Formats: sequence, C-alpha cells, structure tokens
Amino acid sequence: MKKKVYAIPEPGISNPITFNQNICVGCNKCIEVCQVDILIPNPEEGKPPIVLYPGECWYGGCCVAECPKSGAIKLNLLLMNRVHWKRRNIGEQSRT
Ligand code: SF4
Ligand code: SF4
Repeated sequence: MKKKVYAIPEPGISNPITFNQNICVGCNKCIEVCQVDILIPNPEEGKPPIVLYPGECWYGGCCVAECPKSGAIKLNLLLMNRVHWKRRNIGEQSRT
C-alpha cells in the first residue's frame, strides 16, 4: 500500500538557508550533513531541498561546506552574528 506524506514548512521570521536554483543540482548532500535535520529533499528530482524547520538552524554552515556546487547554497547569518571587518591600512569594510 502506497502512503502519502505531507510536509508543511514551519512559518518563521528567520531565513537561514537560501538556494540558487540555477546552480543547485539537488544532490541532497546538504541534507545528509545537517545535524538537526531541518532540510528535506525536494519531491522534484534535481531541485533544491526544502527548509522545513528554519527556526531550528544552528548556523554552523556544515551544509555549505559539504555542497559540491559553489554558490548553490547560502547561509544567512543572523544580523547579530555577522562579523564586520575593516582593513586598518586602507579602511575598506566588509561583512561575513
Ligand atoms: S545545495 Fe549543494 S549539496 Fe544541497 S542539494 Fe544543492 S547542490 Fe546538493
Ligand atoms: S547551518 Fe547547520 S543546522 Fe543550519 S541547515 Fe546548515 S547544517 Fe543544518
């Protein structure tokens, strides 16, 4: 007997992970490495995973490190966790 499973993404104010649909190949390696299982595979093969529980993300970035396609997945750090860098010699500023 075939069973249907429904997954409804948790609504939240945080958006920890975003995918670039043009680069992601849907290999799901990011899903396998996530320690808290907030991602699930896309029902459409070759498409980016779905962020099911955005509020549970630990912001460790394992998913980004594991991804074989550069630029396919982006970790959006919380504002308070972003580092503000400034090159002392030329004054150039950047954020992570
Ligand atoms: S974001 Fe990277 S690791 Fe995740 S499914 Fe896409 S290509 Fe694979
Ligand atoms: S940053 Fe960590 S917790 Fe968040 S989706 Fe990636 S692997 Fe999972």
